[in-house]
Parts: sequence; structure tokens; C-alpha cells
Amino acid sequence: AKTAGRNRFAWFDRSMEHALQARNEVESGLRDAIPQQQIVPYFEQQVDLATGQLSGFEVLARWEHPLRGLIGPEAFIPVAEETGMIADLSLSIIRQAFLAARDWHPSLTLSVNISPWQLKDAWLAQKIIKVLTETGFPASRLEVEITESSLFDNLALAQSIVGSLKNQGIRLALDDFGTGYSSLAHLRALPFDRIKIDKSFVTSICENPESAAIVTAIAKLGDSLNLPTTAEGIEDADTEERLRGIGCAKGQGYLYGRPMSAAKVRQLLAERGLL
Ligand code: C2E
Ligand code: CA
Ligand code: CA
Ligand code: CA
Repeated sequence: AKTAGRNRFAWFDRSMEHALQARNEVESGLRDAIPQQQIVPYFEQQVDLATGQLSGFEVLARWEHPLRGLIGPEAFIPVAEETGMIADLSLSIIRQAFLAARDWHPSLTLSVNISPWQLKDAWLAQKIIKVLTETGFPASRLEVEITESSLFDNLALAQSIVGSLKNQGIRLALDDFGTGYSSLAHLRALPFDRIKIDKSFVTSICENPESAAIVTAIAKLGDSLNLPTTAEGIEDADTEERLRGIGCAKGQGYLYGRPMSAAKVRQLLAERGLL
């Protein structure tokens, strides 16, 4: 029993060591990847559910790793947050996204994700506005998505940053609504323009009456607060139809397509006469 215990401990130790190694690899890789623009924006279509028209895109970070291929954000955003690299990463992503999108059809919006960590930077709004000015992307076409988590650590600072963004005409969305980190109290804390309903509720509305009830309640809440809703994670036409009935304003998800590179977006927009 003693040996087994020791072996188990040794195994546990090694797996921790591997996890640590992997994390360190990500960290050192990121340091070069950001300035080399290996971290690029991908774009996910957002659709007006009433008309079916493309309304814009959510910007999602991807790492185009020279050896490992395309890496999703769960693998590197947390490391970027812990190490403070998220600030540079985020500005690099939005700069690339604005440059790509500035000559797309003027009706098309961009939604960018801001990490709660960035709301501790008193200059965040000024930095974003500077990138808008330098790239010529209009503030009126930009929406910033934030998820709570440490928002209340320094609410006054978050409010002041958000105030500066809104003064420029940038809109504000509360991301992942309904999950643990995003709740009713936050709706009053900041001047949101939109609620995003988390895909964990959306994907199951056709099978699970409780999910349907929750999404309906969120849409009604949005209605009475004058906050249009966006449903994320729409994977089939039945779900889309259901959400249209419920009165969600916008939707996004694999039904409309996977997140794609700027080059692919250009192709799509050219085909639809939206360039
Ligand atoms: P999120 O903001 O909740 O983003 C939506 C996620 O759902 C995206 O995953 C998207 O690819 C995925 N998704 C969209 N439609 C569907 C669908 O129909 N079915 C399923 N199963 N999934 C769908 P992704 O790109 O892996 O992003 C994960 C999270 O990473 C995002 O969650 C966002 O919080 C974060 N993230 C991505 N890019 C950035 C960034 O540039 N900055 C920051 N701070 N966070 C980012
Ligand atoms: Ca988001
Ligand atoms: Ca999220
Ligand atoms: Ca979500």
C-alpha cells in the first residue's frame, strides 16, 4: 500500500509538472507571438433574427502557431490575464480587427471582448479610442462585451472607463448573462446597451423546457429594461426559430458559420455585395 501511495504521488507530481511546463511554454511563446501578430482576430457572424440579415461580427482571438496550428483562446487568454500580457494582446487584436473591418459595409458592427482584468487599467478607454482614431474605424460601429468577475473590485474605475467609452458612442454589452459571473446586480452597475445570453442556455432550448423558460425570462427582462438581447451558440434552425418567437434581437452560432479569418470574411462580404 505504501508503494502504491508513493507511485500515485509520483504520478500526480509528474502530471503537475507537465501542466506547469505546458503553461510556461504558453507564457514564453506568447511573449513573442503578440508582437509578431501570431494572435489574430477571427470573426463570428451576428445575425438580425427578425430579418435574417448579417448585422456584424464578434471578434475572437486565435493563435496561429507556426508549429501547432490554430489554438483557441481558452489555451492562452487565462495565461495572458495572469501575466498582464492581456493588455497588449487585446490592443493588438482590436487594431488588426479594426484595420480589417474599416472598409466593410458601414452597417456592419464589431463586438470585441474585454477581459475584466483590463477594467483595472485607468487608461483603457483612451487606449481603445486611440486605436479607433489611428485605424479610422468608427466608434459608432463598435460594441464592447464585458463579463463580470472582478468588476466589483473597483466599480468606480470600471464605471469611469465605461463612461469614457460611451461618451465616444461605443456600445456596451453584458456577456455570458445568466452564468455565475454575470447577473442582475451588474445590469444596474453599468450602463449596458445589450445583454448576451450565454450559449449554455441557448443550445438546449428545444429539448429542455427550463432552458427555454430562462431564455424567455431574460428576453422579457431585456425588453422591459430596453436592452436588446443577443443569443449565442445557435446551432440549428429550430433553435433559431424558437429564439425569433421569444423575441431575441440577434443571434450567432455555428448555424451561420464557424468563426473565420479576415480574408474569409472579405470573400463572404464580396459575394454578398457588402464591401
Ligand atoms: P464568449 O465571448 O462567450 O464567445 C463565444 C464562444 O462561443 C466562442 O468560443 C465561439 O467560438 C463559441 N461559439 C460560438 N457559436 C457557437 C456554437 O454554435 N456552438 C458552440 N458550441 N460554441 C459556439 P471561443 O472563440 O473559443 O471563445 C471562448 C471565449 O474566449 C469567449 O467566450 C471569450 O470570453 C474569450 N475570448 C475570445 N477572444 C477573446 C479576446 O480577444 N479577448 C478576451 N478578453 N477574451 C476573448
Ligand atoms: Ca463574447
Ligand atoms: Ca465569455
Ligand atoms: Ca458565452
